[in-house]
Amino acid sequence: MRIDLHAHSNASDGTDSPAELVAAAVAAGLDVVALTDHDTVAGHAEAAEAVRGTGLTLVPGAELSCHVDGVSMHLLAYLFDLAEPAFAAERDLVRNDRFRRGRAIVERCRELGAPIDWEQVERIAGAGSVGRPHIASALVEAGVVATVSDAFTADWLANGGRADVRKHETDPEVAVRLVRAAGGVPVFAHPGAVKRGRTVSDEVIAALAAAGLGGLEVDHIDHDEPTREHLRGLAEELGLFATGSSDYHGHRKTVRLGEHTTDPAVYEELLAQARGAEPIRG
Ligand code: AMP
Ligand code: ZN
Ligand code: FE
Ligand code: FE
Repeated sequence: MRIDLHAHSNASDGTDSPAELVAAAVAAGLDVVALTDHDTVAGHAEAAEAVRGTGLTLVPGAELSCHVDGVSMHLLAYLFDLAEPAFAAERDLVRNDRFRRGRAIVERCRELGAPIDWEQVERIAGAGSVGRPHIASALVEAGVVATVSDAFTADWLANGGRADVRKHETDPEVAVRLVRAAGGVPVFAHPGAVKRGRTVSDEVIAALAAAGLGGLEVDHIDHDEPTREHLRGLAEELGLFATGSSDYHGHRKTVRLGEHTTDPAVYEELLAQARGAEPIRG
């Protein structure tokens, strides 16, 4: 069983449509893929339709933007009830604020001399939940930087960078409770991704575990081996499961689907904790 529990479509900042993501997951030999777009479930219906007859299992999810102690972090949520109003309202709040913030970032970039505009970013993002990677693609198109990843420096879009503007982000303890109340399973995404900026302390992770966190994403491209070892130990200590996933973004990042995977026993544990929805078996 090959299980990849973190992938983005063009419903947020991935480049594959949900149906293309499903096809890519089949081609990559995956048995299970989770669709976890940033602050949106807009890709779920198309992905669910696309898995029919493929043998692939789709785990519907999302990746919620959170903020604690001055640090931005991401919370993966799986198999929650889409109709549960409190969590749905929080996703809407975060996603909608991305538009205000996206415009503000574009304005900052223009002040800094980058010849990009909001219409260009809208074209790149399409119907997707708009984020810095879309603006990074605009900076690449404009010839300001060579690659998307080169836009994530202090000069431009990195956390605290010259053109970075904050968006509304949920307190993670509140988020963990919202996900559980919607029957979902919350997993802390890439907790040790230091290249993206500051990360939260083990004490914060312990508090999230006490609030109902289910697991930590341990095997991730942004974690070196010592970080993985540490997180694995911490998960064990706190009674959390440890997942692995690619965080695939299509061609906006170099990581391949299935580059990191989750142990089948961990997947079973996740399913056992889920109350809000069932995986969609194609
Ligand atoms: P946003 O959600 O708009 O705040 O943008 C955050 C997204 O930007 C993350 O989910 C990553 O996909 C991407 N990102 C953050 N840091 C980097 C980086 N150093 N290199 C490339 N992509 C990054
Ligand atoms: Zn992303
Ligand atoms: Fe993330
Ligand atoms: Fe992600």
